[in-house]
Amino acid sequence: MQIKLAFLGAGQTVTGSRFLVETSGQRLLVDCGLYQERQFQGRNWDPFPVPPQSLDAILLTHAHVDHCGLLPRLVREGFHKPVYCTAATAEITRIMLLDSAKLQEQDAEYKKKRHQKEGRRGRHPEVPLYCTQDAEASLPLLTPVGYEEPVRVGHGIEASFHDAGHVLGSAMIKVRVRQNAEERTILFSGDVGRRNKPILRDPSTFEEADYVLVESTYGDRSLGPAVDVTEELAEVINNTVAAGGNIVIPSFALERSQEVLYCLNEVLHQGRLPHLLVFVDSPMAVRVTDVFEHHPELYDEEMAQLLREKRSPFDFPGLTLVRTIEQSKAINYLTGSVVIIAGSGMCTGGRIKYHLVTNISRPESTILFVGYQAAGTLGRRIVDGAREVRILGRYHPVRASVAQIHGFSGHADRDQLLRWLSALKRPPRKVFVVHGEEDSASRFADFVAERTGWQTAVPQYGDEVVLD
Ligand SMILES: [Zn+2]
Repeated sequence: MQIKLAFLGAGQTVTGSRFLVETSGQRLLVDCGLYQERQFQGRNWDPFPVPPQSLDAILLTHAHVDHCGLLPRLVREGFHKPVYCTAATAEITRIMLLDSAKLQEQDAEYKKKRHQKEGRRGRHPEVPLYCTQDAEASLPLLTPVGYEEPVRVGHGIEASFHDAGHVLGSAMIKVRVRQNAEERTILFSGDVGRRNKPILRDPSTFEEADYVLVESTYGDRSLGPAVDVTEELAEVINNTVAAGGNIVIPSFALERSQEVLYCLNEVLHQGRLPHLLVFVDSPMAVRVTDVFEHHPELYDEEMAQLLREKRSPFDFPGLTLVRTIEQSKAINYLTGSVVIIAGSGMCTGGRIKYHLVTNISRPESTILFVGYQAAGTLGRRIVDGAREVRILGRYHPVRASVAQIHGFSGHADRDQLLRWLSALKRPPRKVFVVHGEEDSASRFADFVAERTGWQTAVPQYGDEVVLD
């Protein structure tokens, strides 16, 4: 038995997930992600280590662009085989890739202008990594497969997709390779969600695997028991309503926006908030919410119960999913307090900027952050207490209240990851710790080795190993 596994991304970083499996002359790529950290973005341009047309299939764990966003580039360079993923992932990937292509195009245009103005050439060509046409050409390759239904993805290679509890459609992928009379299984965790999250079922566990690739985003910390965020949410909103301002929530389109709606629906139903208008003003979040509504079969028991009681978090009294620019502009003319959920999650683009311009200098309004704010983003500057911020080319004093709720998290922490691994009944031959900052990944690898006695490794970008 010989299987070659190459780590083409997410080795000591949290983005760029790509793992190449080679066996009996066949090549599979598990995840096909973009690098998003500024210092590693150059790797998106590196020549792909094998000719894309030599890949026999791509398997996607979920629709975040750090797991699927490189696909259009490979398609442009000749890849034309099936891309297996769950049905919800296929639908959301479509939205994400078209958006990503638009961003790549805008980015190239912006760089070109800047370099012209500065009279210099950049390190990378001023052409988009891929364009809308490439993204569109990728879409027919998306091949939906059911959860828990093994699918043949090559000669003697089978893959099955299992609930990951991270975002709608997300999966852990088990790849089973048969050669002669032997068999090996490789388990790819993808991103592992937290248990008891709103809407989604809990992550699956596995009793057997020969090799495991496990993410480690929060591999170095324990987040403690899941906290009830509805209490904090109700408090922030009630205080802002009493002051007569608006609540502006920058939020990611996929999963976080729907979770915020779920919690709002809860507190409104329990009568802990006055009746007020809620707007989701993000074309992408609205489209993703539509996908949620297409897939009630993926909901957990609590969410299914809400639907039976006709209390959908995506359709409650006072909620508007904004679909036109006119609707978006009209929000500014409303009197009384409203809740506005808009993208992007870190305030780097999208309609949130317009709502910030309207609200950030009003002492009665609140800017409420529900997600991580990366260094260098507008969101981070606001969270860090800047007294003045530049938005859409103009400086605005920050007079609104700034609040943050930490309880929303898309990833399992150290203890939950260990618990997930511990479901394995016999020790795997090796556990590869991936998808975490260097520190987090190596600490988690040590933690697992110490607690279980299993062999662990922390691969780097470009590492190759032979699985026997
Ligand atoms: Zn993810």
